[in-house]
Order: sequence, then C-alpha cells, then structure tokens
Amino acid sequence: MQETTNFDPVFLADLAAIRRDIHAHPELAFNETRTADIVAAELAKYGIEVHRGIAKTGVVGVIRCGSSPRMIGLRADMDALPLKEMNEFPHRSKHQGCMHACGHDGHTTMLLGAARYIAEHRDTIGFDGTVVFIFQPAEESEGGAAVMIEHGLFEKFPVDAAYGLHNWPGIPVGEMAVMPGPVMAGTCAFEITVRGHGCHAAMPHQGIDTIVAASQLVQALQTVVARNLHPCDAAVVSVTQFHSGSAWNIIPEEAVLRGTIRSFKPEVQQTVERAIERLCSGVAAANGAQIGVVFDHRYPATVNSAAETDICRQVAAATLGDDKVRKDELPSMGAEDFAYMLREKPGCYVWLGNGPGTGGCTLHNPHYDFNDGIIALGVRYWVNLVAQTLARP
Ligand SMILES: [Zn+2]
Ligand SMILES: [Zn+2]
Repeated sequence: MQETTNFDPVFLADLAAIRRDIHAHPELAFNETRTADIVAAELAKYGIEVHRGIAKTGVVGVIRCGSSPRMIGLRADMDALPLKEMNEFPHRSKHQGCMHACGHDGHTTMLLGAARYIAEHRDTIGFDGTVVFIFQPAEESEGGAAVMIEHGLFEKFPVDAAYGLHNWPGIPVGEMAVMPGPVMAGTCAFEITVRGHGCHAAMPHQGIDTIVAASQLVQALQTVVARNLHPCDAAVVSVTQFHSGSAWNIIPEEAVLRGTIRSFKPEVQQTVERAIERLCSGVAAANGAQIGVVFDHRYPATVNSAAETDICRQVAAATLGDDKVRKDELPSMGAEDFAYMLREKPGCYVWLGNGPGTGGCTLHNPHYDFNDGIIALGVRYWVNLVAQTLARP
C-alpha cells in the first residue's frame, strides 16, 4: 500500500473540476441523468467496462486484473437534496431548490478518481481480481441501493464484500472513523391518528377532545425509550408533526401526529413499536377516543462486519497514519441506504473527515460544501483498499 497522497496535481485538478461541475448541477433521486452521463463518460475514457440502467440512473464500472475470482464492490451515491443552496461561490447550484448538501458530488468524484487511477496503474498496484465501482442513485430517501439490488446488482456482480464511504463534517481533514457493528441507525416513520368527537370549544362536555388526548400522547411517547429499553440500548422517538384544528372555537374531530423512530437492533425496534401501541390504546381508553398507529419501515441499520472493518482500519491507517483512525466514534442516529448492501454482503462503511463544519458546513445544511481537499485522501483510501483486499497471493 502507498502511504501518501502524492498524486499528480493535474489529476487532482481534473477531479476537483468534476466535483464542482456535479455540485453546480445537482439532481434528485432517480433523475441523476447528467451525473450518470458524466460518470459513464469518465469510466469509458479510461477504458473501463461500463454498465448502465441498473435502477434507472445507476452506473457500474468494472476493472478486472489477473485470474482470481475474487471481487469487491466500492460504492458511491450520486443524488442531491431538495434544498435551496445558500452558498455564493461560483460552483453553487444552478438548479433552483436542489443542492448537493450531503457531499454525494464528492463521493462520486472520489470513486471516479479511484477508478481512473486503478485503470491507469493496474500493473503497478499489482492486484488480482475484479473491482466493481457502483454509482448508485437515490440514497437520500428512495433507497436506490435496494432498487439496484432488486435489479440484480449482486447477481450480475457477485462481490465478496461491499465498501462505502461518507464524508463527515466534524471529523478533521486527514482523519477517518472506522467502527465495527452498527454505525448508522435504522429508520421508521410513524403516523398516529387520534379521533375524538368535535364540539363547540365552550361546551367541551359534549365532545371528546382530540387535542388533549394527542398532547398526552406526545408527552407519553417520551417514556417509550426511557422506560422500556435497556439503558445501554439506543433508540430515538421524535414527534415531528402535530396537525389538528381549524378554528379557535372548535374542538377538532381529529389530530394527526407524525414522527420517526431510530434504532440499531430489530428487537429494540419491536419493543419500541409495542410500547407505542400500548400508549396509543391507553391514552385512547383514558379519553374515550380512538387512536390508530401505522409504522412505515424505511432503511435498516447499517452494520459493518468485523473482518472487513479490520481490513478497512488497516487500510485507513496505511493511508492516513494509525493515530488518524478513530476506532470508537459513537454511531450516528442518521440513516443510510448502504445498509441494504451490507444486509446482502459483508463490508464496511467509513466516515472520512470533511473538516470542522463551521459556518454551516454540516450535512443537509444550505451552507454545506464538500471539501475538495479530501478528494486525494478518499481516492488513496479506495486504491489502497483494492491493493489490500485483492493483493496477489
Ligand atoms: Zn444525506
Ligand atoms: Zn449522504
């Protein structure tokens, strides 16, 4: 493995230009057509086998070297967010209300850089096996990773392991976090409907007050995690919407609460859901109301496998220095659809420091920007990971 990031400055300038071009032209889930065109054209330019149309805008590049059947998948996400960019620099979004506020422009660029570098230096890197470069659509909310898998990604490219990387504001440039086990939470949305009996606000005895019942429920939901889970098991229950009422003198017939549950383990998720159901029926009985709850399971937890995490730690240490690898960072309660790939394959998802996050440079903030200074680090990490996992015997 090579320890430094001493790439040709022209190579890095090319990559920064691609990154800024993608940043200026962000595209939402399954509409990443321009981005996918750039990815496919870049891969083709360096003689890399290209497959398109997996999950609509998904692109896969393949580099084979030697005769070993070993195969690894490296994944980047390409989609942007429905957010109005507040930055003023020249490469700010040209698409109104759409922004690369999660750095997927940078992820795409770093993986393109790795593909180009590996294609050009496959003999000197000296690996034996197949590298599958996966450029997926729709990470943010539509689960593009799951759609690629449904469309036969792993039948076409039966990788032994899958690896992912996300830039991480708050971790200094030059550092990475590589942890085994759950690193990002599973996410589940819920909707609670409280039905009472509407009446005149001055005659509450004639009705069943949905606002009072729903308010009790909002309070009670905060006991779900605190009073039902083992104190060392993590979960979040957040009520984020409370809709009810149309006038100041009417007690409304209905209230709707919505929110999200985050957890790392299926059994914890189950416990949380049963506790929410109990509270709904209890509050309903106490108020004479009817309360129903619906759970909408979205991304599962992102869980790194032990052996592949060990490999990634070695690679990160060789790339950045052993003291630059964070091994006990707390997991994030955010969610990530690379989870679907890690449900099918062993692998590891790491965080690459994007810098301090000052001035709103945090994920999903309208002032965020991917740090071009970490492109070289990400490329070197990918190249070293290929060299390590597919080393010639
Ligand atoms: Zn995001
Ligand atoms: Zn992201």
